[in-house]
Amino acid sequence: MEYKSTRNSGLRVSAAQAITQGISTEGGLFVPESLPRLELEDLECLAGKTYNERAIEVLSLFLTDFSDEQLCHCVNLAYTEEKFGDEEITRLVQLGENGLAVLELWHGPTCAFKDMALQLLPHLLTTSAQIIRSGSERVILVATSGDTGKAALEGFRDVPGTRMMVFYPADGVSPTQKRQMVTQEGENVSVCAVEGNFDDTQAAVKSIFTDPVLRERMAEKGLQFSSANSINWGRLVPQIVYYVSAYCDLLADGKIKLGDPVNVCVPTGNFGNILAAYYAKKMGVPFGKLICASNKNRILTDFIRTGVYDCNRDFYATNSPSMDILVSSNLERLLYDLCGEEDFQITSWYRDLKETGRFEIPPAVREKLTAEFWGGSCGEAETLSVIQRVFSEYSYLSDTHTAVALGAYENYREETGDQTLTLVVSTANPYKFTGSVLSSLGEPGTEDEAEQMALLHRISELEIPASLLEIQDKPVRFNRLISREEMKEDVGRMLRL
Ligand SMILES: *Cc1c(COP(=O)(O)O)cnc(C)c1O
Repeated sequence: MEYKSTRNSGLRVSAAQAITQGISTEGGLFVPESLPRLELEDLECLAGKTYNERAIEVLSLFLTDFSDEQLCHCVNLAYTEEKFGDEEITRLVQLGENGLAVLELWHGPTCAFKDMALQLLPHLLTTSAQIIRSGSERVILVATSGDTGKAALEGFRDVPGTRMMVFYPADGVSPTQKRQMVTQEGENVSVCAVEGNFDDTQAAVKSIFTDPVLRERMAEKGLQFSSANSINWGRLVPQIVYYVSAYCDLLADGKIKLGDPVNVCVPTGNFGNILAAYYAKKMGVPFGKLICASNKNRILTDFIRTGVYDCNRDFYATNSPSMDILVSSNLERLLYDLCGEEDFQITSWYRDLKETGRFEIPPAVREKLTAEFWGGSCGEAETLSVIQRVFSEYSYLSDTHTAVALGAYENYREETGDQTLTLVVSTANPYKFTGSVLSSLGEPGTEDEAEQMALLHRISELEIPASLLEIQDKPVRFNRLISREEMKEDVGRMLRL
């Protein structure tokens, strides 16, 4: 299996190369040359296996330059009972009798679904570097809307041959997300706040990556940039696994029969998570509608409904900060697929986006888009009322991001009347956003995070993750704040270029 770029269909690189490089030199994203097939019999067979066995089988279809032994090694280091609390790794929770199952992806070390990919990525990267015999030291740059940063730091801390720099928008993360990052341990990591929002930070990181002068100076020093953001194929492929696995779990639990359709509803920001569901569907997992849930930053909802992607709008810092994004990177991979892999078309749309802040897809492409996706959004007040309602109805506590998905799903059912069993993807532990969750339950919060968590525990009886309690007493290691213009220089200084 080889990979090409969304902006150069003629390019061919191996999986190991795509993963070490992160992004193609002309700015495109790596995609597999074709998607492997999973037949219904394959799914039936996988239903009898453990999460790790499923992961190894699915990954082996994509990472064909990895040996079985290398894949087993990577997967078994990433997904352990110790890190995920259970060998099941993910959890399925049925809510009521009306065809709603919540897929919890946040039982990893940092309490957000990013762990599903970022516990594996460091091992994929280290192995990829061995495969292509790269002697370079890898420098991982991360732009984070909150959860990627911590999950990447935890995944990459003290990994030999790797340095990591995380940039987060100063006013764009929750207090717990910030504390998780600024107290991070590890000799090879640094964390820095940037003025502005996530889109600014992400754009600056992308331009650092593709800066030819910087790349050359790095090469002279034996350094190579790589990415832990979902532009990296190594982030996406582990996410395909949990969709395949969730379908297998529904089968194994007798909730569906082989071949029954299942909808998927995903709280979406950078479009990585829902894109993985789309790929799983194209591979043969019988998914129905893919419901793309946005918060008040509803650019994707509008795009799915009108075919116009328009960034010329206000950016809102909301109570679901990990989805506060206007430029959804992975949409590029979907559009590449929907437009028949016309690289010039992608290049021109993304040039328009850069120059005018918008682009428009033709009706034929839009038709394909709406055949697969339904877009809906859930505002801040609605998000809080969903948390309250779901808690009182099902005694189920959800975080703000998951609540956006639950809210969009309700709207979807109302609008379409579709009763198909739906997997609503749950992306964070409620304790990561304790303040908002408490206010949704009508509890006037205190400022103190530890007290807030204790209060939420008394109300919900949900266990407080030890990793979130621990950080309350850890010293702050990183407190720098820079402007986005200073980022490039900052990277150069830290690498002594
Ligand atoms: C990153 C994140 C999202 C958005 O996922 P994308 O893959 O960027 O669409 C949603 N919820 C939480 C909690 C996240 O951390």
